[in-house]
Amino acid sequence: MAQTRLAVKPQTYKYILGVLPFIIIIAGQMYPLLGLIIFGCMVLAIGVSFFRGRYFCGNLCPRGALYETYLKRLSRNKAVPEIFDRTWFRVLWVFFLMGMMTFRIYQSGGDLSVLGSAMIQMIMMTVFIAVLLGLYYDSRVWCRFCPMGTMTNWIGGGRDPIAIDAHSCIDCTKCSSVCPMDIQAYEYKHIGEVEHRDCIKCEACVVSCPKKSLSA
Ligand code: SF4
Ligand code: SF4
Repeated sequence: MAQTRLAVKPQTYKYILGVLPFIIIIAGQMYPLLGLIIFGCMVLAIGVSFFRGRYFCGNLCPRGALYETYLKRLSRNKAVPEIFDRTWFRVLWVFFLMGMMTFRIYQSGGDLSVLGSAMIQMIMMTVFIAVLLGLYYDSRVWCRFCPMGTMTNWIGGGRDPIAIDAHSCIDCTKCSSVCPMDIQAYEYKHIGEVEHRDCIKCEACVVSCPKKSLSA
């Protein structure tokens, strides 16, 4: 199990992106159609994954931005238990949440307002779980088993990897100490690319490397 990790300052735009889940949850109580935005996010995440793996998770996901910015400030940032990375656990969440979503789509009977409300309820439930876990563990703990993260891993995990220069790397391990996914980037230097399927391309390792050995 990894130790409590160091933090890297998030990019400014993520503070704006991270407010979106709150806006959707609060405004969605009056305007349930806002809940349909979630389908747009899902389509975008899947689309991007064909070319860039889990890039959406680390750069475009409003929930990921919320966890990386505001929640990070409150988190105790403890090491993430291995169970959250286990395949069976991740598959369970995919079936549970995708099954629940399919049922809610069927239950809505084609009424978009009902469907939007159902999606907002699902977001409230999952954000609640993610925040609860993220307050204690690394704030991005949800990204370890998020169904969208798992599905984008299946589709394009490892695509467009971070590059690593074996000659300049000094094995200081700073890159792994800042990685929210507990990836040891320096271990990939013999192949020149961080091919880990769960790399979310957040570039925390890139900005923290003292030798500039990593690049996006
Ligand atoms: S932070 Fe840079 S120099 Fe240090 S181990 Fe990672 S890649 Fe190598
Ligand atoms: S390996 Fe680097 S870019 Fe990939 S998730 Fe870890 S810190 Fe982010």
